[in-house]
Amino acid sequence: VKRKKLTVEDYVQGVLAGDRVLLSRAITLIESNAPAHMDMAQQVLQQLLPYAGKSLRVGITGVPGAGKSTFIEALGCRLCRTGHKVAVLAVDPSSSVTKGSILGDKTRMENLSKEPQAFIRPSPSGGTLGGVTRKSRETLLLCEAAGYDVILVETVGVGQSEVTVRSMVDFFLLIVLTGAGDELQGMKKGVMELADAILINKADGDNRRRALAARVDYERILHYLRPATEGWQTKAYTCSALSGEGIDDIWSVVCEFRDRMGASGVFEGRRKAQTLSWVYSMVEEHLHNLFFQNPAVRVGKTAVEQDVITGKVSATMAVNRLIGMFEQS
Ligand code: GDP
Repeated sequence: VKRKKLTVEDYVQGVLAGDRVLLSRAITLIESNAPAHMDMAQQVLQQLLPYAGKSLRVGITGVPGAGKSTFIEALGCRLCRTGHKVAVLAVDPSSSVTKGSILGDKTRMENLSKEPQAFIRPSPSGGTLGGVTRKSRETLLLCEAAGYDVILVETVGVGQSEVTVRSMVDFFLLIVLTGAGDELQGMKKGVMELADAILINKADGDNRRRALAARVDYERILHYLRPATEGWQTKAYTCSALSGEGIDDIWSVVCEFRDRMGASGVFEGRRKAQTLSWVYSMVEEHLHNLFFQNPAVRVGKTAVEQDVITGKVSATMAVNRLIGMFEQS
C-alpha cells in the first residue's frame, strides 16, 4: 500500500494529538539518513520542541538475562494503570551489526505492547554511536511532545552504550543479579558509578535470601564510590520483576529522586548540561568527518603517517602538517 506523503504540519499535528501511527512515522523520518528527510525531520522537531522536556527520563541497563524487559513490562503496565503514558526506547549501538537487535524485539513485553497508553520503539540502527545517539535523543523528544510522561530508555551493558544512555536520562537504574561475589568482582566500577540505584532482580523463591545478602554487599561497595548525581546517595534495592514485589518501591525511589533533585536544581542543571554536551559532541563528530573526508587530507596523510612511524617527524609535527593540509584546502 502506498502511504500518503505527509507534510511537516501533518507530522506536527499528529504527534501533538498523540497519534501513535504518526509518531512512529515521525520517528522513522528522524531515523532516515537521506538529506531531504533530515531537513524535514529538523523542521518537525523544531516545531515540537516547545512541547518536549516534560517527562521523567529513566535509563535502564543490565547484562542480558538480568531481567530488563521483564522489569520494564511490569513497571510499564503499573504506570499505565495509574494514568501515565509510557514510552520504551532501546539504545543498542550494535543493532546495525547483529541486525534484528536483542532489544525491542516483538515477542518481548507482550502485555505492555497491548496497553493503549504505551509506546515501544526498538533501537535505531545508526551505524555510528553518534548516529544512534542523535536518533535516540530526538525520538525521546518526539515521544515527550506526544504526551508520554515517563520515558524508559533500555540498553544492554555493552561498551559505550551505558554512557550514552546516562547522557540522555535523568535517572539511571542498573539491574543486576545475585551470585554476589563473582558478580561484584566482574562488575565494572565505572558502570556502578553511573547508577542512581542498583536493583537486584529475581529476589524470589530460593534466590530471595541470596538477593538480600547481595544487597548488603552492594551497599558496602557503593559506600566507596562516587555518587552519579550530586546530592543523591545511590543505594541497592531488591525486586522480583516476575512477581512484581519491590517494583512499587523502586518507582517511589525514582519519584523521590525527581522531587529532591528538582527542588535542589540538580535536575534542571543536568538537563541543560546534557543538551550542551550533546551539541558539542555533534560539533566534534562533524569536524571529525570534515577532516577525514577532506580530499587533501586523504591524499596527503599516507606520507605523513610514514614519516611519523619511521621517526622522521614528531607526532606534534605530523599533526601540524595534517591540520595545515586541511586548512589550506
Ligand atoms: P533481559 O535480557 O535483561 O531483558 O532479561 P529478561 O527480562 O528477558 O529475563 C531473562 C529471564 O529471566 C527470563 O526467562 C525471565 O522470565 C527471567 N526473569 C526475569 N525477571 C525475573 C524475576 O524477577 N524472577 C525470576 N525468577 N525470573 C525472572
